[in-house]
Amino acid sequence: METGTRIYFDHAATTPLDREVFEKMRPYFTDVFGNADSLHSFGREGMRAVDESRDLIASLIGARPEEVYFTSGGTESDNWAILGAARAQRKKGKPKVLISAVEHHAAISAGERLEKEGIPVGRIPVNKEGRAEPETVRAMLTPEVGLVAVMAANNETGAVQPFRECARLAHENGSLFFTDAVQAAPYLRIDVEDWGADLLSFSAHKFYGPKGIGALYIRRGTGMERLISGGEQERGLRGGTVNVPSVVGLAAAYEKTLRDLDKNNAKIRALKMLFLKEFFAEIPEARINGGGESLPGILNLRLPGVDNAAFLFNMDLHGVALSAGSACAASSLKPSHVLTAMGLSEKEAGSSVRLSFGRDNTEEEIVRGAALAAEICKKIRG
Ligand code: PLP
Repeated sequence: METGTRIYFDHAATTPLDREVFEKMRPYFTDVFGNADSLHSFGREGMRAVDESRDLIASLIGARPEEVYFTSGGTESDNWAILGAARAQRKKGKPKVLISAVEHHAAISAGERLEKEGIPVGRIPVNKEGRAEPETVRAMLTPEVGLVAVMAANNETGAVQPFRECARLAHENGSLFFTDAVQAAPYLRIDVEDWGADLLSFSAHKFYGPKGIGALYIRRGTGMERLISGGEQERGLRGGTVNVPSVVGLAAAYEKTLRDLDKNNAKIRALKMLFLKEFFAEIPEARINGGGESLPGILNLRLPGVDNAAFLFNMDLHGVALSAGSACAASSLKPSHVLTAMGLSEKEAGSSVRLSFGRDNTEEEIVRGAALAAEICKKIRG
């Protein structure tokens, strides 16, 4: 990644496209341009690439190819999983939906839409580490619950959720289980059987793939309504001309991610530990938001007495990119719903920032970034 002297600590927002992945995508922009659903040879060439990509992804997540649906990204996958499954479950007399309080806005807003349709939505509270505890989920399960949504890992704190236990409880109750694996996919090996997911979403741009492409796993036999109507693409469940280059990029990026997973996880976790060591030596009163098992790359820090907007602005002036939470909410800088759900006050949430490290960060960047962060904290506090 070429960032010059700038430093990029915002990999949870997005990652650069891997050059090898880009080379695999390239022919599908120009030479192999047929509409994958056309019946002639141009179309068949496109469909071959789509089929191969679907087979590859399915084999990597322990699914059948016909259970993998391509979408425009994590947001569409989350919307479809929640709206599509809840509307179908309502028809079966199980109208209620449970959604964890720390889901991404893509899932939270889908829940709000359901409420406007008269579908009851319960919000699963989290503990102070940001986890939806299985006991809490158990207590909220009633016969009318048709769908439970608990993400695999949180995008702001990196907290890994007890998704397997939540899935088991949902199934014991006869409910479907959806997990948003958008942030988990770069770090955890997805296995839909072991994870117990009926629905699972992920998105290529979080693991060095192209933006605007994702997938939704839908377990065979799961009743689903369409979200995007139109043609008969994606086995009649998702209309729209298939984005062949991006589908190829999604599969290639995910394959490469898994190939190098252990090596990159170890490297990125070591970078996070180095940042903590360097930064806490200067600012010992800082606090980590969250606790317990977290994704290697994500670090959410509370900086007492420091306004996060001023901090981000100053870091950016010096060429260091990070964020206050989810990029989708960044422009509003409203207190994070994730941090407030964990019990932080609005003021504490307003002094919290998210750093997310990536495979191309260097120790030199970490040391320089931590020193600058400490200096800016001190400057803001006067
Ligand atoms: N879910 C989570 C947990 C995310 O972090 C994001 C992106 O930040 C999304 C969903 C949305 O994904 P996309 O940007 O592909 O729409």
